[in-house]
Amino acid sequence: MGEEYKGVLLQSRYDLKSDIVRMREMVDWLGDLSENVESIICDSKLGHCYGIVIKPDHWHEGLPAAIRTAGIAIGGHNGILVEANRGRGFNIDPDWGETLEVAAEARIAPREDRMIFSPVLLDRIREKVALSDLASRWVTWDTRKSNFARGDYWAPCPFHKEASASFHIDDPKGYYYCFGCQAKGDVFKFLCDMRGIDFSQSVKQLAFIAGLDDEITLYGANQQDVPATPQPDPLNLIQIKDIMVDKFDQENFLEIGVVTGWTNHIRRHPRLLRSLSWGDPDYPGNVLDLITAMDEAQDGSIDKLKSYIDSKFSSEYRAATQTTAFSAAKKNLGYQFEHPRNDIIGVMMPFGGFAPVYEAIKSACETTQLPAKRADEVWNHSVLINDILELINHSAVVICDLTGRNENVFYELGIAHAWGKPVIPITQNKDDVPFDLRHHRYLHYHNNSEGRQTLQDDLARKLQSLVGKR
Ligand SMILES: [Zn+2]
Repeated sequence: MGEEYKGVLLQSRYDLKSDIVRMREMVDWLGDLSENVESIICDSKLGHCYGIVIKPDHWHEGLPAAIRTAGIAIGGHNGILVEANRGRGFNIDPDWGETLEVAAEARIAPREDRMIFSPVLLDRIREKVALSDLASRWVTWDTRKSNFARGDYWAPCPFHKEASASFHIDDPKGYYYCFGCQAKGDVFKFLCDMRGIDFSQSVKQLAFIAGLDDEITLYGANQQDVPATPQPDPLNLIQIKDIMVDKFDQENFLEIGVVTGWTNHIRRHPRLLRSLSWGDPDYPGNVLDLITAMDEAQDGSIDKLKSYIDSKFSSEYRAATQTTAFSAAKKNLGYQFEHPRNDIIGVMMPFGGFAPVYEAIKSACETTQLPAKRADEVWNHSVLINDILELINHSAVVICDLTGRNENVFYELGIAHAWGKPVIPITQNKDDVPFDLRHHRYLHYHNNSEGRQTLQDDLARKLQSLVGKR
C-alpha cells in the first residue's frame, strides 16, 4: 500500500492502513517542512520504525527537531532513519515519549549513541515474546474480566496504584493500554518502564528471552559495517520430525495447532496424540504424517511450525537430529545400533524387471544430497534381517514400490513407518496399495519412458522437500 499525501509518498511495509494514518499525521506535524520530504516508509508491523527520505538538496536545519517531535507526537517510534544527501542523514533513537513537553526538549542523540535495530529482528522478538507472558511476571490477571482464548488480558495496572483492573493487553496486537493512567506501548516499552531501562537494553533483554540475542544487528546508516549473521540451513522435514519425536509433548502439539491453524487436524488425527501419550511405536510415523500433510498443503503452516521449533528448541535442535527415537522398539527386532543415520535414500522394490524404474529413482535421488541404495540387493544375497534393518536405519527416506504386492516390500514399509522414516509408496497399479496405506499419498506411475520420467520428476520434488536439494 502506498499513497501520496501533501506531496509526500507514504508506504507501509505491511500494507497497514494504520501505518498510513500515522504517517499522514507525521506529515501534518512537520507542517511546511514536509515540503522537503520525498517519502516516508513505515517498516514494521507494530513497532513503527520509519525511514524518511529528504529530497536531494532540500536540507533544512529544522528537520531533526521537527521529525523527532512528529515521531513522538504520533505516538512514539522504534527508530527513525532519515536519509538526506551531502552526508546529512541521521538516526533518531527509539522514543515512546507520551507528552509533547518531552518532544520539545528532545535532542538528537549524538552519533555514538545511535542504535537502531533491524525492524525484522524487532518483529521476530515480538512474535516470540508474547506481551501477556512478559507482563504476567508483574501483574495478576483478572480472570473474570479477561478472555484468555482471545488474547484479551486485564489486570490491575503495574504502573499506577489501583484495586480494579484497568490495564489491558491485546495479545494478538502486542499492545497494552491502561485506562487509568494511559500507559501504553508494546513489549519493549513495557520492559523499559518496568525495569527503568532504555530501549536498546530492552531489545537486548527480550532478544535473549526470545533466543535471538546472537542475531542482534544494527540497522541504519552503519548497516554496511555490520557483518551479516549467518543463517542456519532451514530445517528439513526429517529434522523437524526428529525434533518433534524427541521433544514434543501434548502441550507442544496444542500450541502448534494454534500457531499453524491445524488444531482440528491434530485433534482429529486418530493416532497422533494417542500414540504420543502411550509411547506407541507408530508415533514417529504419525508425526511424519502430520508434517508431510502440512508441507503439501502449502498454506505456510510448515514454516510456522519451523519457527515454533526454532523458538522453543533452538539451542538443542541441531543436536536433536542425532537422537535415537524409540530405540526400544528397534531393539525388540534384535537389531542394535547407535542412532538413526539418515544418510541414504532406501529403495525397496521387488526383484526382477525393475531396473529402468530404479534408474529413474536413482536420477531423482541425484537431485538431493543423498544417494539411493536398493534394498532388494540385500534380500537377494542373504536373508539377514539385520541388513534390512540397518538399511532402513540408514535411510532418511524410504521409497517402496508396491507393484505386485511384494511381501518383503510391505515388511520393510511397515518397519520404516514404525520407525518414523518418511515412506514414499509408488506403484504401477493403484489396486496394489492396501487400503490402510492410501493416506500415504502414493505416486502412481506407468512403466514406460514417459511414465518413468514423470515419476522421476515427482519423486525429485518430494525428496527435495524431505531431505533438501543437492
Ligand atoms: Zn495505569
